[in-house]
Amino acid sequence: MNDDILEKMRRAGTIAGEARELGANMIDEGVKLLDVATEVEAYIVRKGARPAFPTNLSINEVAAHYSPHSTDKLVFKRGDLVKVDVGAQVDGYIGDTAKTVEVRTRNWTNLTGASAKALTMATEIVGEGVHVSSIGGTIERAIRSEGFVPVTNLTGHGLNCYNLHAGLTIANYDDGNTTRLKEGMMLAIEPFATNGAGEVRNGKPGNIYRILRDREVKDADANRLFGRIKEEFKGLPFCERWCTAIEPKAPAHLRTLVRHGILFAYPILAEVKGGMVSQAEHTVVINNGRGEITTRIGV
Ligand code: MN
Ligand code: MN
Repeated sequence: MNDDILEKMRRAGTIAGEARELGANMIDEGVKLLDVATEVEAYIVRKGARPAFPTNLSINEVAAHYSPHSTDKLVFKRGDLVKVDVGAQVDGYIGDTAKTVEVRTRNWTNLTGASAKALTMATEIVGEGVHVSSIGGTIERAIRSEGFVPVTNLTGHGLNCYNLHAGLTIANYDDGNTTRLKEGMMLAIEPFATNGAGEVRNGKPGNIYRILRDREVKDADANRLFGRIKEEFKGLPFCERWCTAIEPKAPAHLRTLVRHGILFAYPILAEVKGGMVSQAEHTVVINNGRGEITTRIGV
């Protein structure tokens, strides 16, 4: 694989991994989600990278896509099962990584262990020539062997420069995908385990957005914000907090841009039966035929 790209993937991965650990270690009873997200993202910038997407802090049956609002008062509670999902990028090359932590209880150790074990086993088989479906099959077997089910409509994904979901879709079960991994491929593997039905559905918007279409709206202020969004986030997902830091009236402009089909507001994804959900994620590059984990640090 290209040395310059590999170097950027390793830097982004290391910083994302460190930021994940920083976030996970901050989480405690009474701590604000907003403070954790802000610290995680400030750490990434301090280390010379940029966030690749807003810090996701998703609790209990919520599997993904909650990021605190700029005025968010929500605090972690005893017993919360928290998925910390963090992204860092260096010149567009992304480290995407997640882990699950429980706030002051140990009720869900087996569930958290199931997604972690699935990730370990999946990363062990990754390499040039491996079928994408083998990754999913390995994940499903690992999770089921612990007495849980995988979330089948959440997937791992390919990564590319300034592209968080490029090409490959890596299911968390054997989906029969006979595509083979190739040298230089960059992918995020992210098993989700649950004691519910194994599916998530869309809930309310969780403050995270992406660009759907690049076109003008009549509202000049909304247009100006859209220009800044393109400049600052370069097509990667972003959140209300980051926009409000640029422009205090951003929440109103974001609503305008969503209404005109220019932005997409990601819904919160919650387990359909209200099951508890755990997640583990690493970014992997296929380098010299082998899968190299870029986001493994202090696990
Ligand atoms: Mn992630
Ligand atoms: Mn991911």
